[in-house]
Amino acid sequence: MAEDLSKLGFETRAIHAGQAPDPRTGAVITPIYQTSTYAQDGVGGTREGDYEYSRTANPTRTVLEGAIASLEGGRHGLAFASGMAATDAVLRTLLRPGDHLVLGDDAYGGTFRLIDKVLTEWGVDYTVAHLSDLDAVRAAVRPQTKLIWCESPTNPLLGIADIAALAGVAHGAGARLVVDNTFATPYLQTPLEHGADVVVHSTTKYLGGHSDVVGGVVVTNEDELRERLFFLRNSSGAVPGPFDAWLTLRGLKTLAVRMERHCDNAERVVEALTAHPKVAKVYYPGLPEHPGHEVAAKQMRRFGGMVSFTHADGEQAALDAAARTKVFILAESLGGIESLIEHPGRMTHASVAGSMLQVPVELLRLSVGIEDVRDLVADLTAALG
Ligand SMILES: *Cc1c(COP(=O)(O)O)cnc(C)c1O
Repeated sequence: MAEDLSKLGFETRAIHAGQAPDPRTGAVITPIYQTSTYAQDGVGGTREGDYEYSRTANPTRTVLEGAIASLEGGRHGLAFASGMAATDAVLRTLLRPGDHLVLGDDAYGGTFRLIDKVLTEWGVDYTVAHLSDLDAVRAAVRPQTKLIWCESPTNPLLGIADIAALAGVAHGAGARLVVDNTFATPYLQTPLEHGADVVVHSTTKYLGGHSDVVGGVVVTNEDELRERLFFLRNSSGAVPGPFDAWLTLRGLKTLAVRMERHCDNAERVVEALTAHPKVAKVYYPGLPEHPGHEVAAKQMRRFGGMVSFTHADGEQAALDAAARTKVFILAESLGGIESLIEHPGRMTHASVAGSMLQVPVELLRLSVGIEDVRDLVADLTAALG
């Protein structure tokens, strides 16, 4: 297939972009190049392409990077050992001691921890702001601000930030906008098209999609930034192994069909929760009363598979309900084919307790999977009592 696939549809690119059959054997599926090193033709000369050592580059990883970059509509993809390794690489490439960043008040807990506990020791300062409030974001920006770190939808409150507007604020201040696109995936939202400079993913979630691999990726259109990220990754070594890259690539091929089903099922679950007497509030950007609904409708194809809600009877009732589901598995993480339930206050967001990022104690978060939705609704209804 021709190299320029950019005009082809998302589903076609997910399966073919950068994934031509193996030139030597014709293998239709990218092989797992389970090798650390590569024979060289002579001292200082490599045999084919740029492969010398797998920390620097590995063919299975290269294919994954090309595929994700294509789906995000970006020029460069760089795969990492985890979403946090990707996040760390972006932060350490774009920030120097004395610099400042603006971070959403509903950021992924691990991202907040990395900034608050590691980067501050390194002389970086940050301000937490409500990213759906552009005046608050403008007020948080300082002369030293080098980046705005955005998630939309956010975790776990499903807040929505206007990516194009935030890009305007960032660029007006001489800063970059980084979007962690893990919750939306490129199937639902492509931030680079809305003006973001860098996209980060935990591929552990929807991109891998089967809860069997941990990984991360960074996508950008900037050549120079790609070189700096590549240099840092090669220097610090947070690369995924070939099998992990292959599993992620395998997951990516079905992203579109999985996301459609995640969205279908989430909508039905939201309907059931909204009607349930034990549910106080449902957080889902697809709801017309959600404060970010219009912005979400503008920048997203659909509203995703993540749903949060508060239990009307408080924290203990929420904990009990989470312990009673049978199809929804009580577990951290998200974005796999199976449905998961968790209590952010005690699980994924325990590290932000007492900070500005604290979440309601009666909140439960669902990662709605692709099972038969009737089973999912019945399971939640029974667990809520
Ligand atoms: C899981 C997650 C991360 C971290 O990714 P890991 O692969 O667990 O390191 C970052 N951002 C978001 C939004 C996530 O959900």
